[in-house]
Amino acid sequence: MGKGFFQVPKAKNEPIKSYAPGTPERDEVLKAYRRYYEGSVDIPLYIGSKEIKTGNTRPMSPPHDHKHIVGQYHLAEKEHVQEAIDNCLESRNAWANLTWEQRAAIFLKAAELIAGPYRAKINAATMIAQSKTIHQAEIDSACELIDFLRFNVAYMADIYEEQPDSAAGLWNRVEYRPLEGFVYAITPFNFTAIAGNLPASAALMGNVVVWKPSDSQIFSAKVIVDVFKEAGLPDGVINVVYGDPVMITETVLASPDFAGIHFTGSTHVFKQLWKQIGNNIDIYKTYPRIVGETGGKDFIIAHPTAKPQQVATAIVRGAFEFQGQKCSAASRVYLPKSTSKEILDLVKKDVESFNKPGSPEDMSNFITAVIHEGSFDKLAKYIDQAKEDANAEIIVGGGYDKSEGYFIEPTVILTTDPKYTTMETELFGPVVTVYIYEDQDWSSTLKLVDETSEYALTGAVLATDRYAIDEATKALQNSAGNFYINDKPTGAVVGQQPFGGARASGTNDKAGSAQNLLRWVSPRLIKETFVTPEDYRYPFLG
Ligand code: NAD
Repeated sequence: MGKGFFQVPKAKNEPIKSYAPGTPERDEVLKAYRRYYEGSVDIPLYIGSKEIKTGNTRPMSPPHDHKHIVGQYHLAEKEHVQEAIDNCLESRNAWANLTWEQRAAIFLKAAELIAGPYRAKINAATMIAQSKTIHQAEIDSACELIDFLRFNVAYMADIYEEQPDSAAGLWNRVEYRPLEGFVYAITPFNFTAIAGNLPASAALMGNVVVWKPSDSQIFSAKVIVDVFKEAGLPDGVINVVYGDPVMITETVLASPDFAGIHFTGSTHVFKQLWKQIGNNIDIYKTYPRIVGETGGKDFIIAHPTAKPQQVATAIVRGAFEFQGQKCSAASRVYLPKSTSKEILDLVKKDVESFNKPGSPEDMSNFITAVIHEGSFDKLAKYIDQAKEDANAEIIVGGGYDKSEGYFIEPTVILTTDPKYTTMETELFGPVVTVYIYEDQDWSSTLKLVDETSEYALTGAVLATDRYAIDEATKALQNSAGNFYINDKPTGAVVGQQPFGGARASGTNDKAGSAQNLLRWVSPRLIKETFVTPEDYRYPFLG
């Protein structure tokens, strides 16, 4: 603690810029986009004070123009991963003992750098690396990351303030120690904000981190590293490695000092990590913290009283923004027969109003590319299957083309089987499946929604009937960690809707909340007695 009870600045959500034609932010981001697009960046590993170029490189390309190369990154060997761990452990003492307000200041500065001089860079890098439209980049890599950094500082202060009572003659106090060891952060491709937050939240609480970004996000991850460096994060606090995820993970999890994992990604990878940690449990000095936010099969259910235009908009935005590659994206929809035709006609009209999928540099595009060939091929396979299956019909979209970019048309599958494969399986693309129920089957359909998928991340009910809303809220209590009434199931905002799901969707430690930060500390209770007893006998002994 410093020499004062410092109050951190009140956290506020970063306002979203419009990027409308003629605005200065539009010009600035398009210039940054061009600079990156025409340049060639060479991204090293960041270990301690060293920037290591191993010479074993992989090229990076925008998903919407996969033959174009925007740079390369260097792959780690086992020895580099070990070096990253060693650097964490060397840096740990100094970092863990730095007063909290100094740590807070670094991350608050990082937030302001992203809000100001790095905003166009981080957005442009995200547009290129993950093929996000400017709006999707702005709400993710600028606003959400800024919010994570600002709000986490405020939550940290709240946590530190939480202290026990003390009876007369003694003083109880709790110090929120960082974990004894290092934290391993593994991040997904789809959110630059998550990539920044997973290592940063653990580091903010005084931990040292090995960070492994997704291969598909390294181009924008580099901007995060640049920001942290400029904000004054000391070398060795967050060490960054890329390469074979299996080798890197095996090396990290074999360390006796491994103290926790902060993961976001798919369910099968997380289950594998959990098993590996379990198998290694005897080698660790402490029980590792396991935090994972994973897949989803997120639903929209409309009641017969829901307004068709509102349902259609929730579907179009919820399923297709960022090509459905949000863990919260709506991917299974339940519509009542009475209004289904009107709703689906409105959805078709909206989708037909989109341009063909294209580059985010053309700001009239609402839909851009999916992340990589593996994702493209998987989606194309499910679309082809739906074209053949008797119990499925494609009513919108269904086209795809990977000659230039990994473009999949926004696609709506209508099925007569509520357990059809695309009602259950996470596809992670611009494909939504609709099942139409008989109006009188509303209550049993709620049960169906609850029982159809292994996931429980997000879900939405649309209705005007308050009894129906109440019934859905109760029936779907365990079906989603983030539940929306009369809204789309995407777009959680830090500081307002802490995010996370249960069942196969994760440990529900709510990113962007104090609950998450509590996983990165191990509290120590200190009891100090002022007048220490000198006689063992209690009065009852006479
Ligand atoms: P992914 O599981 O393919 O990859 C995530 C990370 O794990 C990457 O860094 C990857 O390199 C690494 N990885 C892959 N295989 C590994 C292995 N065997 N051992 C160790 N690490 C390994 O996920 P993705 O495609 O990057 O992201 C999409 C997934 O993430 C979806 O399932 C989505 O629902 C989920 N997601 C969930 C949330 C949430 O908050 N619940 C948020 C974003 C994304």
